[in-house]
Amino acid sequence: MSAGDMPVATPDFSGFGLDAAILRALDDQGYTTPTPIQAQAIPVVISGRDVMGAAQTGTGKTAGFALPIIQTLLPLASGSASPARHPVRALMLMPTRELADQVADNVARYAKYTSLRSTVVFGGVDMAPQTAALRAGVELLIATPGRLLDHVQQKTLSLSQVQVLVLDEADRMLDMGFLPDLQRIINLLPKKRQNLMFSATFSNEIKKLAQSILNDPILIEVARRNATAENVQQIVYALPSDQKRAAVAHIISTRGLKQVLVFSNTKIGTGRLARELVKEGINADAIHGDKSQKDRMIALDAFKKGETEVLVATDVAARGLDIVELPAVINYDLPYAPEDYIHRIGRTARAGASGLAISLMAPEEERLLADIEKLIKRTLERGSLSDFQPRERERRSPRRDESERAGREAYGQQAGQRAPRYASRSRGHHEVVDEFFLKPYEPDVNATPDEATESAPPSTSKPVRKIAALLGGSKRVERG
Ligand code: AMP
Repeated sequence: MSAGDMPVATPDFSGFGLDAAILRALDDQGYTTPTPIQAQAIPVVISGRDVMGAAQTGTGKTAGFALPIIQTLLPLASGSASPARHPVRALMLMPTRELADQVADNVARYAKYTSLRSTVVFGGVDMAPQTAALRAGVELLIATPGRLLDHVQQKTLSLSQVQVLVLDEADRMLDMGFLPDLQRIINLLPKKRQNLMFSATFSNEIKKLAQSILNDPILIEVARRNATAENVQQIVYALPSDQKRAAVAHIISTRGLKQVLVFSNTKIGTGRLARELVKEGINADAIHGDKSQKDRMIALDAFKKGETEVLVATDVAARGLDIVELPAVINYDLPYAPEDYIHRIGRTARAGASGLAISLMAPEEERLLADIEKLIKRTLERGSLSDFQPRERERRSPRRDESERAGREAYGQQAGQRAPRYASRSRGHHEVVDEFFLKPYEPDVNATPDEATESAPPSTSKPVRKIAALLGGSKRVERG
C-alpha cells in the first residue's frame, strides 16, 4: 500500500485532527500549509502505520514525523515532576550532531505547549547535562547512535518504553558505519513499536535495513525537489585543479554572491579554501567534523545570520543544515558519491526560491561528473569563465616544486615515492604551501566518533568509530 491510497491530503494543518496545543505551536512557527511530505506523512503516522519515507532534509520532513508523534503521545503527557512519568516514548536517531540539534530544536518548538519533554544527546559535548536531562525524564529523545549507546551503557536511560522509532537520513547512517550501533539500539527496544524510516537514496543496503526493521510500511515519496528542480541553475566549469581556489573567489565576487555554501571533499581542504578566500577579502569560514561542536555551531550561526558570506564544508558537516533559501552552492570538489551531489544542491532554492549550483571540475574529475549525470539523468550545462584570469601564482612554478619537496620531507618521503593519498591529493590542489598544512594532522580532542568519517572515496569509506590521526597512532588513514 502506498500513501496515495490514504485519505486525500488536507490543505491546512487543522484537517489532520492535531491537538490545539500543536496547532498553536505551528501558528507561532508561521506554518500555514503542510508541505507535500507533511500532507502525506501526518495522517499515516497518526494511523500508527510504519513508514518508509523517501525524502531529504529541506522538504519539511521533520514536522512530517514530529507532529504526528507528538499527537500520538499527547494522551500520555504528564504534568508530574516524577521522572517515572516521563519515560522515553519516541526515539529519533540522526546521523550527525547538527541534524540532531536541528531536529531537537524543531521538536521542542512543536511540543512547547504540551507537557511532553524533549532533549537531544550527541557526542562532542559534555555528557553531564545530557545525563541530567535524561534522568529528569523525557518522552521525545533525539540522538546520534554513538552517544545514545554511551548513555545506555552508563544506565542513564531505559529504552524499554519506546513506542516510536525514527531513523532519519538512514542512508547517511549506513554510509557512516552506524549499522552495528543501530542493531544494538534496536535490540534494546520493545518489539511492538511504530517505525518511521527516512532516506534520500535507496541502495540495496537501505532496502535490506528497511525489510529488517519496518513492518508492512507505507511508502511515502516526495520528489527530490532540488535534484531536478527547474529553479536551480546548475553549471559546470572545467578547469585545472590548481586554478580552482582563485576561480571560487572570482565567481563569488563577480556574481556578487552573499551566502554561499562551498563543498570540499576533505577536512583539510575546507580550512585551506576558507583561509584563501579570507586572504582575497571574502568573509569565509569552514566547518568539518574535527572542529569542536561549539566552533561549528558558532560558524553556522554566523553564516545563517549573514555575518559570514561563505561557509566551506565537507558533506558530513553540511548534512542536514537547515539554511533556508540558500541562494548558491559551489562544488569546489565534485563528490565521490553521486548521491552527495543531490544532497549538496538540495541546499539551494528551498521553498520555491531560485538557486544556483556551480561545480568546478578538474580533468581528473570527469568520471565523477559522468556518474552524477547518470544518476540525475541529465547533462549539466557547461559554462566558461571567460573573464577569469588565473593569477601567476596559481600556475605551476619552481616555488611549488620547492613547497612540494618541503611537504614530502615533512611526511618523511623520498622524491618519487608514492605520497599518502591525502597528501598527494591535497598538495595537487595548491601551490603556495601554508606551513600549517605541512604539520602532522592533529585531530581536535573534542571531535567525537559520531562524525568520524568525512566524505571519502567509496573504497576507503568504511565504518569507523575512532578519529584517526593521519600520522602514527591509527591504522586507518583518514584523509584531511
Ligand atoms: P526540514 O526538511 O524538516 O528540515 O524542514 C526544512 C525547513 O522548512 C525548516 O526550516 C522548517 O522550519 C521549514 N518548514 C517545515 N514545514 C513547514 C511548513 N509547513 N511551512 C513552512 N515552513 C516549513
